Amino acid sequence: METNAFGVTSQIYSPTIRNPLDPEEFKRQGYMMIDFLADYYRNVANYPVLSQVEPNYLRKALPQSAPFDPESIEAILQDVQQHIIPGITHWLSPNYFAYFPSSASTAGILGEMLSTGLGVNGFNWLSSPAITELESIVMDWLGQELKLPGTFLFSGNGGGVVLNTTCEAILCTLVAARDKVLSQVGNDNITKLVVYASDQTHCALQKAAQIAGIHPKNIHAIKTNKSTSFALSPESLFSTILVDIENGLIPCFLCATVGTTATTAIDPIGPLCNVAKKFGIWVHVDAAYAGSACICPEFRNSIDGIEEVDSFSFNAHKWFFTNLLCCCLWVKNPNDLTKSLSTNASYLRNKVSDSKQAIDYKDWQITLSKKFNALKLWMVLRSYGIGNLRNFLRNHVKMAKTFEGFVKMDRRFEIFVPRTFSMVCFRLKPSAIARLEHYANTTKAHQNGKLASEDFVNQVNNKLLDLINASGKVYMTHTVVGGAFVLRCAIGGTLTEEKHVNMMWETVQEKADSILGKPKIALY
Ligand SMILES: *Cc1c(COP(=O)(O)O)cnc(C)c1O
Repeated sequence: METNAFGVTSQIYSPTIRNPLDPEEFKRQGYMMIDFLADYYRNVANYPVLSQVEPNYLRKALPQSAPFDPESIEAILQDVQQHIIPGITHWLSPNYFAYFPSSASTAGILGEMLSTGLGVNGFNWLSSPAITELESIVMDWLGQELKLPGTFLFSGNGGGVVLNTTCEAILCTLVAARDKVLSQVGNDNITKLVVYASDQTHCALQKAAQIAGIHPKNIHAIKTNKSTSFALSPESLFSTILVDIENGLIPCFLCATVGTTATTAIDPIGPLCNVAKKFGIWVHVDAAYAGSACICPEFRNSIDGIEEVDSFSFNAHKWFFTNLLCCCLWVKNPNDLTKSLSTNASYLRNKVSDSKQAIDYKDWQITLSKKFNALKLWMVLRSYGIGNLRNFLRNHVKMAKTFEGFVKMDRRFEIFVPRTFSMVCFRLKPSAIARLEHYANTTKAHQNGKLASEDFVNQVNNKLLDLINASGKVYMTHTVVGGAFVLRCAIGGTLTEEKHVNMMWETVQEKADSILGKPKIALY
């Protein structure tokens, strides 16, 4: 190998690459990539959080076809900086408050890297025993820390599996519930099976029900309201079930949510199970975002009653410092899952599987192939320890409380529903907007007729959100609940500190000023 004037071996630029996994080249490029990412984390606060590009921006910038000759990592990284980064919405920015955060940490990234680097596939025990064994150990560890009842742990004849997303967790459990009921009532009755949830339940349930062959009319989203903070009422569930039974339908599955996506509402698991269990309904708890908080004793009561449910899932990639993708699902009775999801192809058969001495995770999930995702979860748990993980979560909640305090102090705003974890739902109050409406009505009355008050409040809040996000300084998203357009400020970025929350609040106020006019006092 020759070294050129830049100290670079000529082989790098030779058109023929013999080994795409050359250890030396891997080291050189790998360090470069780590440096690139480290610089990114150092600078990410300076980027506009919400990407400002237009659709198809990238097609215009990149060549029409793939290169025939190899290109250098340097050239590729340059294009990443120039073309990809501008099209990134910076989920890891400390100024990102949208949706729910995408959790990340050094341990999570390195765990992902290790898993990818090892290139192993864990569809059954034999295909890489450590994948299955570590996954079952980590799921027991985590289950203990969440204070899940022993019946969800392998030691208690339950067990956990690491999936990619909550959508999969819901689909797998729904299919298990469906088949359990059908085994009793006969497959012909599939059109009668009913799935229950609140109208706040994530659309993942609807998709899962569609895929599972549940009749669209039998997905019963029960109405919630503001007076009960959009939690599912056991009484409503009960009366809905009674009507369904009267109509000859068959109750099958309830998806309760702890920490709804719109407002982090908490469905009361215990009382809901009291109803559902009377009718033999499978209860799944979707705690995609809020489940993480249950490692803190002060938040554990949000899943009180969990002993009664059949399955529970949360996304470690949302608020548990574990990089995408990582959804943890526990079931009380793994047989229910494996009855529905097992396959037995001859090319996968082996003595260990046949002896039933080990878990074959392919029978617990939709896909055959399985990444070594437990590795990153294990690394997160070990690198930080439960003590630090609790501190990280508490710090996010503390910052959310601080922000909530800011909002409460400014009488133009209101907290729309009580905060439960680290997300704050807020908006400009109708009373603060009233004067604007008067103005809008007198000037626009001839064009639009009278604007409905509720519509107008929503429009102004929508405008506020647009201005906040167009600033590029912060990014948050909205929800529409009970007819109201509400701003959601989700605090949970790994890099977010108090100073970012302060800056975010300044931005919100500044944009409110620009809408309402500076003299705040005059509005009352
Ligand atoms: C985010 C979220 C989901 C969807 O999670 P995926 O992992 O993307 O499938 C489901 N339910 C709730 C309550 C969520 O917040």
